[in-house]
Amino acid sequence: MDTALTLAWVRAVATSMDQHADQLTQLDAAIGDADHGHNMRRGFGMVVPALAGHRCATVGEVLVKTGSTLITSMGGAAGPLYGSAFRAAGKKLNTPDATPEAFLMSWYAALTAIRQLGGASPGDKTMVDAFAAGVNAFEEATWRGADLAAAAAKAAAAANAGARSTIPLHARKGRASYLGARSVGHQDPGATSTALIFRALADVAAM
Ligand code: ADP
Ligand code: MG
Ligand code: MG
Repeated sequence: MDTALTLAWVRAVATSMDQHADQLTQLDAAIGDADHGHNMRRGFGMVVPALAGHRCATVGEVLVKTGSTLITSMGGAAGPLYGSAFRAAGKKLNTPDATPEAFLMSWYAALTAIRQLGGASPGDKTMVDAFAAGVNAFEEATWRGADLAAAAAKAAAAANAGARSTIPLHARKGRASYLGARSVGHQDPGATSTALIFRALADVAAM
């Protein structure tokens, strides 16, 4: 994972959030306050110009700049959660070209940051359900010797399955938890945006 590919990934996330904003907002309309797509589009929409005006020498600098921009410009619960995740990942990657193992460790750091800040565990119907599934699949593929593209493809499929797995769950964290049992039957918006972040990585890594 080198600096140029990292930049391409973050830009691909921004494009994906723009394309899926209405879908994410509709999911949030069912169990939240109908702003998740707007928040994600706005946050990553600020990241692209921030990166364009900033020379990044390492993978970590790209990710830290991404996270810092999300923290300062993106509202909602998801802004600080994703912002902390990208920052934590970036702090592990002080290199212009990360090995698959180093990149994996950065995914773990990101997941830990989300869990520490939000206090959610897998099964609570949050972004953690997709994030943990994606990271676990990335790990399994990496230890079996998969290259970045293959590991990212496995992770994207698993993160998407993790997002789907939130449908029957009862929300225990975030705004959806206020609905109690009425959150059952709806896919979590943050888990869905997490799956899109993994999908964007798989797409740029395959090019
Ligand atoms: P808000 O709920 O403040 O409007 P967003 O709509 O942007 O923020 O994001 C909502 C998403 O954030 C949820 O779908 C969920 O995945 C995630 N989320 C909310 N609270 C938590 C938490 N405590 N831990 C992990 N993820 C959370
Ligand atoms: Mg919301
Ligand atoms: Mg909100």
